[in-house]
Amino acid sequence: MKNRAQVVIIGGGVTGTATAYYLAKNGISDVVLIEADYLSSGSTGRCGGGIRQQWSERMNVRLAMRSVQHFKNFENEVGQEIEYFQGGYLLLAYTDDEVALFEKNVSMQQSEGLDVDLYTFEETSKKFPFMNLSGMKVAAYCPSDGHANPHLTTFGYARAAQKMGVEIQTHTRAESIEVKNDRVVAVVTSRGRIETGTVVNAAGGYSREIGLMAGLDLPTESYRHQIFVTEPLEHILNPLVISFEHNFYIRQTTAGNFIMGQGDKDELPGHDITPTWRFLKEMTAKMPRFFPFLKDIRVLRHWAGLYNMSPDAQPIIDKSDKIEDFYMAIGFSGHGFMLAPAVGEALAEWIAWGEPKSVDISNLSLQRFKHGFTREKNVV
Ligand SMILES: Cc1cc2nc3c(=O)[nH]c(=O)nc-3n(C[C@H](O)[C@H](O)[C@H](O)COP(=O)(O)OP(=O)(O)OC[C@H]3O[C@@H](n4cnc5c(N)ncnc54)[C@H](O)[C@@H]3O)c2cc1C
Repeated sequence: MKNRAQVVIIGGGVTGTATAYYLAKNGISDVVLIEADYLSSGSTGRCGGGIRQQWSERMNVRLAMRSVQHFKNFENEVGQEIEYFQGGYLLLAYTDDEVALFEKNVSMQQSEGLDVDLYTFEETSKKFPFMNLSGMKVAAYCPSDGHANPHLTTFGYARAAQKMGVEIQTHTRAESIEVKNDRVVAVVTSRGRIETGTVVNAAGGYSREIGLMAGLDLPTESYRHQIFVTEPLEHILNPLVISFEHNFYIRQTTAGNFIMGQGDKDELPGHDITPTWRFLKEMTAKMPRFFPFLKDIRVLRHWAGLYNMSPDAQPIIDKSDKIEDFYMAIGFSGHGFMLAPAVGEALAEWIAWGEPKSVDISNLSLQRFKHGFTREKNVV
């Protein structure tokens, strides 16, 4: 392992590896990425793989739209097939409040150039006849939304970055960060010390702990989220379907398995990722009502991961104003996989050229929490 590097990235999920890839593409390959466990062992490898551009906050729409351009070209650009499938996202509205919110969101999303529409109950039933939509009022549908395999995406970025000279050290934990005169001087790992002037905090559910190592109190908290995968069936479900009212999301993988999950408002912040019987019981009882073909399907595997939440459920992409050259891409609040290409690209540009060039991310700074902010509403 190198004992000196221009940049040390902490975290080998999709954010860290995307940032490493784009740093190398921008000419900075003197980079060491350290990962406490194996690549994509954190939230990335535990996520639903959904890629959606339908958000209530404009910044999320912009980052997701930019990311979709990269996901579309991923195989050409990065050299890895990632099971990318643009089957759309279908968001179901059941209440008048949801209808009003969807109308507002769709018009904002359209003003950003997104191809998204509202469908009536009849239109939705006709297009998706295998679902039980009773009680649904309208649906928002964006055909260019989709999903991909998060492991392949992470490995793709990692391998491409390595080919350009980035060093990746798995099973290597950041234990402390040495700071002198408000500058980072080194990251001390479980396998040795790396001298560096620039650190990227891409530690997902542990972003707050990494901040504390440098004396920064970052406003993120982690919450368990559970998910399971069923045995495969013939392909029937193109879109990833979400109901905020009934608290679920579901998609079918390219291999035919169904992946689904729900939020849990009773979760307390922490790092526990033990799956619970309650989740399994609630989900398996709830889902066949909406998707009758799931009635007798068997669950293959059930697991949990962390949502690293920020106060407004939008990511924090910033450079500390207290510690020189301490960057962070954290607090993704359950949608960091889909935003990673645009985030990695912008962060790498910031480090390489002094400012993000591809997309304006100034709204995602830590400063916003001092001046008032609006919360992203489209979160399961
Ligand atoms: C159940 C579930 C479903 C989800 N579904 C979706 C979805 O459909 N679409 C979507 O976009 N997002 C989804 N998400 C959110 C998504 O998984 C995350 O936002 C995203 O993966 C964050 O990536 P990351 O690289 O920032 O963090 P992570 O993938 O968590 O990577 C951080 C890495 O840092 C490492 N690390 C931590 N501490 C240290 C240390 N001290 N030293 C070295 N390494 C360290 C960890 O081991 C980890 O591998 C979901 C999340 C969950 C839990």
